[in-house]
Amino acid sequence: MPAIFAFKCSCCGELHEGSPSIAFTAPDQYACLSDEQKARMGRLSSDFCTIHHEDHTDYFIRAVLEVAIHGVEEPFLWGIWVSASKTSYERYWETYDNPIPGDGFFGWVCNSLTPYPWRTSRPADVCIQLNGKRPKVVLHRSEPEHDPLVLDQLNGISIARAQQIAEQAIHGVSRPSLNVPSKAGG
Ligand SMILES: [Zn+2]
Repeated sequence: MPAIFAFKCSCCGELHEGSPSIAFTAPDQYACLSDEQKARMGRLSSDFCTIHHEDHTDYFIRAVLEVAIHGVEEPFLWGIWVSASKTSYERYWETYDNPIPGDGFFGWVCNSLTPYPWRTSRPADVCIQLNGKRPKVVLHRSEPEHDPLVLDQLNGISIARAQQIAEQAIHGVSRPSLNVPSKAGG
């Protein structure tokens, strides 16, 4: 069983080594603002983001969503943003350098994870990690369970599926077959 994930990409022909890691520099809500709006309403750093509207403020935190790859040590990593309440955001901010074990909060996933189907809202538990690691996103099980991303996080994915998702995430190739979730473990 391979400990390290590597594949020859069918899109660009190059060898992509290491488990895939796809990161977003901002939540979609920030990314879709105009430059003028970003300057006027937004604040963005590597781990924190706020958008100030006239009557309220939206708070976002950078986190990681892991999907296990069967037979590979390192998971498929999505560096994503989650929404947070003001209270959760401020607590994370205040305990950033000295995180409290067991801490966590509720958040919504705030990035569209192509090639997974677009969802307006994916609810999740966000679990604080120690040792300088970003908080870990644990998606809520969907009802009914037809969200391929939820199923993939729950069951893990095959190396072949990890390769397919990575190629599409890296190169933006759209293949509708991916929208059909595959049950693992059969
Ligand atoms: Zn490639």
